[in-house]
Amino acid sequence: MGAAAKQQPSSTPVFSQSATTELQLEALTRRLWLSRGCATRRVLPAVCVAAALAAAFVVLSAGGGSPNGMPASLFFDDAQGSEDIPPSNLTAEHLLDGLLTAEFSYRSCRSRYEFDGYHKKSSHKPSPYLIAKLRKQEALQKRCGPGTAAHKKALQRLESGEGAAADVEEDNCRYLVNISFRGLGNRMLAIASAFLYAVLTERVLLVDGGKDVADLFCEPFSGATWLLPPAGQRSPLRHLDDYGMESKESLGNMLQSGAVVASADGNVSWSSPRPPPYVYLHLAGGYGYHDKLFYCGTHQRLLRGVPWLLMRTDSYLVPGLFLTSSFLGDLETMFPEKDATFYHLGRYLFHPTNAVWHAVTSYYRSNLAGADRRVGIQIRVFQEKQPPQQILDQLLSCVRDEKLLPEIAATNDTSSRAVLVTSLNSWYSDRIRGEYGDRVTGGVHQPSHEGRQRSGDPAHDMRALSEMYLLSMCDVLVTSGLSTFGYVAQGLGGLHPWVMARAPSWDKWTEDQAAPDPPCQRALSVEPCFHSPSYYDCAARRDVDLDKLVPYIRRCVDVSWGIKLVNESSSQW
Ligand code: GDP
Repeated sequence: MGAAAKQQPSSTPVFSQSATTELQLEALTRRLWLSRGCATRRVLPAVCVAAALAAAFVVLSAGGGSPNGMPASLFFDDAQGSEDIPPSNLTAEHLLDGLLTAEFSYRSCRSRYEFDGYHKKSSHKPSPYLIAKLRKQEALQKRCGPGTAAHKKALQRLESGEGAAADVEEDNCRYLVNISFRGLGNRMLAIASAFLYAVLTERVLLVDGGKDVADLFCEPFSGATWLLPPAGQRSPLRHLDDYGMESKESLGNMLQSGAVVASADGNVSWSSPRPPPYVYLHLAGGYGYHDKLFYCGTHQRLLRGVPWLLMRTDSYLVPGLFLTSSFLGDLETMFPEKDATFYHLGRYLFHPTNAVWHAVTSYYRSNLAGADRRVGIQIRVFQEKQPPQQILDQLLSCVRDEKLLPEIAATNDTSSRAVLVTSLNSWYSDRIRGEYGDRVTGGVHQPSHEGRQRSGDPAHDMRALSEMYLLSMCDVLVTSGLSTFGYVAQGLGGLHPWVMARAPSWDKWTEDQAAPDPPCQRALSVEPCFHSPSYYDCAARRDVDLDKLVPYIRRCVDVSWGIKLVNESSSQW
């Protein structure tokens, strides 16, 4: 089966990606932007009209142009495009300076090669070592992924409960299953983290595809699927959602149950003759001391012989991997610019399906492309009881203090700005339009207002993904602290956002709470924040201040207990 055929989703697809024609995409886009909110709400007619216009625009422009004013047909000839022939006219920019290969046909996944045209030019190139590691990973995914004899054999062993085979090193097909949960931003950060861990440990990455992954993303590896196939009756992969902190197969519990023996010099080994068939890695917020030993080199050596690892996380673990002694050398060579890690990983891995990409690009062209400067504002509210007016005041103070929008209508100002607001609620964009509408000539736009989070609903997640990409196409970003939705947008776009402090939902909101001062702060880097790091120093055998260990890890401005990768030198974004 060819790569294009393999890209069929395992679940019932909302949109089938490869066979869609321009007109079908058009209809799907209209459904995507209009099916919720606009159809049911009387408020925000302008947004609904804008979305409808976005749809109409695409029909009229019949293929449209690239945002830099060049007709798309200069790069790709849709009419002549073939499913199986890679476009011969791809440039280094289309391939993100070697991050991507030309092995996919343009039609099967347009976002792959069009991403560059919609984002600001980058001076942050992937290192040759990263590129070599990616090619090696692709070969591994092809050799050991679903559909191969090696995968079949590994599955049989897993289902029969056998420990690692004696020839596991010979086969060298070991697997990492990403169990995704929570919202889409969390899921994307978790997948990016799992992917990097898979590359570092030479494992095949498989994602829990039952949750609309195939509706959202194209396959990233040519000739192989990253979607976990449906599991057999007796497979430990069958009920992935049931794994949690209490699972006896978790690393933390195995370390305490006698499955692992520790020697006097601190080394650890399995007490059984062979490593277990699988280990569950519980790396979600609130995890305990033993699970956090995952970040120790000795425990990484222990895990190396385990054929299957099942990982549950909602976080961006990458700064933690940089703190793991066994990975440091590889990571430093892969990412000489540490603060470009997610930037490269995200651009390599995530390619919205044609349906999502069509919604993104048509909305962009209709509403944002005409402006000289695009200001993206992401409003995420974690405290339901907090009055919206307080959040709006904080946002407006931030915009004013940082001079992100014109305060007076300047007659001699020829540069135009457009504002993109993303939020579950339309109230904020209405107020921003009321405040700035006459001064922002490019308009204030909000693609959707979903009302509430409905993660796992494909159409809802497709809108969320579209909006992350639209935010990433802006020139300036204001984001809500703590939100992984904003992290993904800033990381993909290579944007240093202005971050508004946000209290997490587990903090009690009280009326007398003072407004955050300053209302927003510049993020230290474009990297996502790792919300749940381990403070344990494996060599020193005690907790340490992670802020002081290496120059490229700092605490996040929005999450005092979180850490992030920052720039050591003075490279500009
Ligand atoms: P986080 O909870 O802010 O860290 O971000 P997540 O993306 O993990 O989860 C929030 C989810 O709520 C998103 O994935 C969407 O499903 C939904 N959501 C939140 N804000 C927005 C928004 O501005 N636009 C859309 N379309 N959905 C949103």
